[in-house]
Amino acid sequence: MAHIAFVTLFDEWCLGVRSMSSILKQKGHEVSITYFRDMAALNDTEGIEDPEGYHNPPGSVHSRDIRALLDHIRALQPSLLGFSFMSNFHGLVCVLTEHVRREFPRLPIIWGGSDPTINPDLAVKHADYVCQGEGEEAIVDLVEALAAGTTIQSIPNIWVKTPEGFIQNPPRHTQKDLDVYPFTDFEQSGKWYLHAGKAEQGVYPPSSHLHTNYPTLTSRGCPYSCSFCCNSNYRDLYGSANYVRRHSVDYVIREMKYRKETFPNLGFIEFHDDVFTFKSSWLQEFSKRFGEEIGIPFFAYTHPTMCRNEDLEALHRAGWTVTVMGVQSGSEEILKMYDRRTARQRIIDTVHLLRRIGVQLVIDLIGNNPLETEDNMRETFEMLLEFPDDYTLHEVNPLALYRNFEITRIAEERGFNGHLLHGRNAFLAEEKLSYRFWNAMWTLTQFGAIPRETLRDMSHDPYLQEHPEIVEGMAKAFIKSCYIPGTMVRKEARLQQLENERQCLEGSRAFRLINRIRRARSYLVSHLTIKNGNTNQPPLRASG
Ligand code: SF4
Repeated sequence: MAHIAFVTLFDEWCLGVRSMSSILKQKGHEVSITYFRDMAALNDTEGIEDPEGYHNPPGSVHSRDIRALLDHIRALQPSLLGFSFMSNFHGLVCVLTEHVRREFPRLPIIWGGSDPTINPDLAVKHADYVCQGEGEEAIVDLVEALAAGTTIQSIPNIWVKTPEGFIQNPPRHTQKDLDVYPFTDFEQSGKWYLHAGKAEQGVYPPSSHLHTNYPTLTSRGCPYSCSFCCNSNYRDLYGSANYVRRHSVDYVIREMKYRKETFPNLGFIEFHDDVFTFKSSWLQEFSKRFGEEIGIPFFAYTHPTMCRNEDLEALHRAGWTVTVMGVQSGSEEILKMYDRRTARQRIIDTVHLLRRIGVQLVIDLIGNNPLETEDNMRETFEMLLEFPDDYTLHEVNPLALYRNFEITRIAEERGFNGHLLHGRNAFLAEEKLSYRFWNAMWTLTQFGAIPRETLRDMSHDPYLQEHPEIVEGMAKAFIKSCYIPGTMVRKEARLQQLENERQCLEGSRAFRLINRIRRARSYLVSHLTIKNGNTNQPPLRASG
């Protein structure tokens, strides 16, 4: 039996690692998963003055956490160590790997996740093995070959470092039937949360969603391949025919029932499928069964061109309360560059449809695109003005040009020359005044308190264009006053929800009981007051 220790970076959900863990355990191996810092610690500046730490947002760490990781590995004594990460943590994982190598020179190290999949040539300079793509079968083959001492040179999906360079094995076929996989490993045993210089067993980070929410996937792969997204690389790797797959509805319902039994405070499900709203027949069957057999509110992503009225309504009836939809731009020219050939009007219609159905909409927009013109940014602004004025846009994502992404190739062809984001395998454009101005103007369109005409006037004001800090200040103030801090929940919507809950409670047995107790209490108070002839009796309390 082997012992595989996975380390995840600022990611306690780590669905890919949890899936591999379940399969390895099924094969009789021991697995531990260490959440090296958590999502809430992203962009943390803690320990910024520690000269031995790693300081490079979003993944800065104090040296005491690096030392704690080494102590933790010493205590675990794994036979294979795996780092799973995205490009933003490439530099951090290089540093951690160097430390581990110095301390444990005989411990084999494997890297996996989206960055090593897209940049295996870089990864194999640091790790002994690189898992390219989905890892369930590949990790089992590797672990068993290492344990048996047989050849590890020709395992599909695994790149191997050799004294002469590396061996690049071909990708294996994707697993077509996802139902053969066991449920992801959310058992508390063998899980560690590493922070503040120590590793704690069996706990989730304090501000993690995982205390009440269960994150999962019903599918793998995305039906689209946007040029700024890793999915276009994955599609190239696997080929279109084998890429998008989905669990059966029956599997998903069984999984949900199991989680209801095993997640003590489960109150919300997060479906992290790249796009959830595809395949009408599946959605209809899922909605019916989920509503009847599970009945827990849930989140799922959607896409402007994959929103059939009947499907969205069925999902909403089943408990779909909030969605994130990528809009990215209101300029058809820019959407074409992103390989998202969506008519502008189609986006507007979908936003109104979601509003009518009653699903809270959060949109994603991309800003700071060095290939975008002033006219393109104004087109986005004009489109947002046609949205209902209660959608949510928290932050505009600056376009990161990741190494080996299609959009990066396009930008290079057009002469873009940005600055390299150290340790993140990406380039970023210099932030221009015009980006700042338009980002803030876009943000303001979600607040109905500002008349559309006022926003239009502001958008033409040369003084504001030269002083974007004024509009940025307004946008920040509106966000602060309209949203519950640290959430995407509008205060107004929360109050309405509480009012609805109060009205539901009014008819309930519990509410009637409380009222009866209240009435009894008033009766006793008045009775005793009259009897004792004064009003200074200590207040009576309803028991229980
Ligand atoms: S729709 Fe979303 S997940 Fe799919 S390729 Fe585009 S950006 Fe990526």
